[in-house]
Amino acid sequence: MSRGISYLHPGPGGFGDEDWMALALHEAIAAFEDDEVPVGVAVVHDGKLLTRAYNQCERLKDPTAHAEMLAITQAVEALGVQRLTGATFYVTKEPCTMCAGALVHARIRRLVIGAPDVKVGACGTVLDVIGHPALNHRIEVAWSVREQESRELLQEFFRRRRKTKSPDG
Ligand SMILES: [Zn+2]
Repeated sequence: MSRGISYLHPGPGGFGDEDWMALALHEAIAAFEDDEVPVGVAVVHDGKLLTRAYNQCERLKDPTAHAEMLAITQAVEALGVQRLTGATFYVTKEPCTMCAGALVHARIRRLVIGAPDVKVGACGTVLDVIGHPALNHRIEVAWSVREQESRELLQEFFRRRRKTKSPDG
């Protein structure tokens, strides 16, 4: 698995969702290589890459160190503002309740998701924090961008983890 991004060649219209999600996927692969649950994020602002992050719960011994949370912190630091109203978040896996709530608080404009999370997805799959009618901020959500690659990476990770933890099964 290479972390290089040299194969990215934007077309005449610049980078599209698939291209930006490729950067998020590279982050997810970096997580995979660090024995972290492989979830990656790329944050785009004004048509440019603002920051990238991957899940680091194991390394930081912090259950809140999801890729989205780290990316929000890095993005507000980079922009020097508290709200990310112009930002699009590319996330390889559907955000959980914590991250979905944080994305609403950060007032991001758009969320692009790779694979749904049938266990804890909070953008419509299990819960719908992003679309909850009580919340006054609406995030535009797009699904299934590079879904298969995102999902296969997660499946491979958990398959290896099961093998390591229980040799019998
Ligand atoms: Zn999360």
